[in-house]
Amino acid sequence: MENLELALAQIRRELPGMTLLENEPLAAHCSFRIGGPARAIAVPGDVSSLSHVCCILKEHKLAPLMLGNGTNILFPDEGLQEVLLISTEKLTKLFLLPDGAIYAEAGVSLSRLASFAQQNGLAGLEFASGIPGSLGGGCRMNAGAYGGELKDVIESVVCYYLPEQALYELSAEDCAFAYRASRFSRIGGFVVLSAVLRLPQGDPEEIAARMRELNERRRDKQPLDLPSAGSAFKRPEGYFAAKLIEDCGLKGFRVGDAQVSEKHAGFVVNRGEATSHEVYELLDQVRRRVHEQTGVVLEPEVIVLPPDYRLEDNGPAVPRHRVTVNDWNAAPETPPQETEEN
Ligand SMILES: Cc1cc2nc3c(=O)[nH]c(=O)nc-3n(C[C@H](O)[C@H](O)[C@H](O)COP(=O)(O)OP(=O)(O)OC[C@H]3O[C@@H](n4cnc5c(N)ncnc54)[C@H](O)[C@@H]3O)c2cc1C
Repeated sequence: MENLELALAQIRRELPGMTLLENEPLAAHCSFRIGGPARAIAVPGDVSSLSHVCCILKEHKLAPLMLGNGTNILFPDEGLQEVLLISTEKLTKLFLLPDGAIYAEAGVSLSRLASFAQQNGLAGLEFASGIPGSLGGGCRMNAGAYGGELKDVIESVVCYYLPEQALYELSAEDCAFAYRASRFSRIGGFVVLSAVLRLPQGDPEEIAARMRELNERRRDKQPLDLPSAGSAFKRPEGYFAAKLIEDCGLKGFRVGDAQVSEKHAGFVVNRGEATSHEVYELLDQVRRRVHEQTGVVLEPEVIVLPPDYRLEDNGPAVPRHRVTVNDWNAAPETPPQETEEN
């Protein structure tokens, strides 16, 4: 706590122009509309100030919690008093590289990315046009839908590795993408900064038509009128979470204002004033009952942050190395080894 206050004072001193939201309600920063106050959310305007904030945190033995569009996360009612969140909402550079690949920063929304691809006659991102997250959060989760996943279109990812305060450019293979997982979800300490996506040429009209069709299917099937964090559980191998939940008679099951959607049993929705504790309880009961009745263990897809959530960086202090955009070219080629689970 004391370390965080010292870090915040240093951030205010060294980055006076950066937006620093203090005592900010987390419910306003996530699609579930749940969560108490965050001690602070830093909103850097560029990659250089983001790395500067990370350096300051490291000096105080802290690590940030990254925040994209907040569409896959459940914040605690108690808020987060002991962690600094860093929002990527201002990291929105998006352009075509000379060789025709797309360069996008972490804060670019997946829907904007998909539209940009369509406008440039590039196919393969149609699946992403209705996913409400950012590219950074999408890389961590390997977001996907309707048979497509980010892993199919990402060529490389530039990320900041907090323990070393170093930049790495990872090939898609090094990102170790898997179903709703990646190297960034398995190991703590990675901040996704940007990605290069390579897509084949396509007909803009056909791409737009496919996007409309998928978005219509989404509107038909998903409870888009109520706050949620998307699919509550991952798809267990050989099953569909929504069908298992429905077959166990849990469609519409409610704990307070948290409810298994009546429209799509894979979603948990906030019927108004749901608390994080109601959602924890609901998720627990659904998991327990599905396990008892079918033997299948459901694994949450939503990132559930407990009330005592905090992030420390107790790794060896490394000399301060403020990274600038020009350092990107000097990023080592070999990614760090997997050492710790998170
Ligand atoms: C209505 C609805 C429909 C959805 N449909 C789909 C779907 O079809 N397919 C699908 O895959 N998902 C779906 N989702 C879930 C969600 O949109 C995706 O998982 C998305 O990729 C999350 O991105 P985000 O920016 O919102 O991440 P956040 O919720 O902000 O964060 C998610 C995780 O990623 C981390 N993170 C965020 N940014 C970074 C970064 N730059 N570097 C490192 N870590 C980072 C966060 O710390 C957190 O652990 C849906 C959600 C909703 C609400």
